[in-house]
Amino acid sequence: MRKLIVLIGIGTLATAGYVAAQSKQSKKGRTSPVGYSDTPMLPGQKWKVHDIERPRPPVVTPAPAGAPLPAPSDAIVLFDGKDLSKWQSSNKGKVGAPGWKVENGYVEVVGGSGDLVTRDKFGSGQYHIEWASPNPPDGTSQWRGNSGVLLMSRYEIQVLDSYNTPTYADGQAGAIYGQWPPHVNASRKPGEWQTFDIAFEAPRFEAGKLTKPGYATVFHNGVLVHHHQEIIGQMAHRIVRAYESHDAEEPFSLQDHDTPVRYRNIWMRRGRNYDGK
Ligand code: MG
Repeated sequence: MRKLIVLIGIGTLATAGYVAAQSKQSKKGRTSPVGYSDTPMLPGQKWKVHDIERPRPPVVTPAPAGAPLPAPSDAIVLFDGKDLSKWQSSNKGKVGAPGWKVENGYVEVVGGSGDLVTRDKFGSGQYHIEWASPNPPDGTSQWRGNSGVLLMSRYEIQVLDSYNTPTYADGQAGAIYGQWPPHVNASRKPGEWQTFDIAFEAPRFEAGKLTKPGYATVFHNGVLVHHHQEIIGQMAHRIVRAYESHDAEEPFSLQDHDTPVRYRNIWMRRGRNYDGK
């Protein structure tokens, strides 16, 4: 358990610090920059982290929101709208009972209660997540319905209200946060249910050294936004963060970024041979 706590603590450190730094602002109408020009270059790219000059992806109107997508027979259902029995919270490295609110078939982020973290560990596989940003919307840029899907509690697919509201390209909905913008902006309106379907290949480590990076293929509302994209390292704000060795499976998390984002119908299928293992 000690190891688990330490790893979760590392995985959420960057986010927790960011939220703590911002929490003195009023809860309503919070603002944040729409980009930066004083951040380091991203390795292998011609852009800086959260580059204010990086073009924002073109807008694509996805199909209208539909009913929850039923899980296939071999899926592990992580949240079915009823209870958080598969989850616990991680708040600044402290593990406890989940603090988020379950009602009407969804769970809503309770700001300051910590990330929602699975009790079991997961790695490579297919993940299905449904989420909705707050309606009416509030705040700007990174305060507008920010949460996140944290694969292995480390690699973030950004959850954000990116409907007709600007932020930096590598931080909008569907981005591999701080690394890769989505190919297109397939966002639905605030309050409407949106989907992420992710094929994730976990990174591999041997004797503490990275031997194969992680990869993600992501569909946002049924629209391809990443195709076998190599993940640069752990999620971080305003910096490039390298990989840090971890197990082949780690808890899966949803981010508490202090805005009341909702989630429903979360399931995953463990990876088979498509990642070569
Ligand atoms: Mg986020």
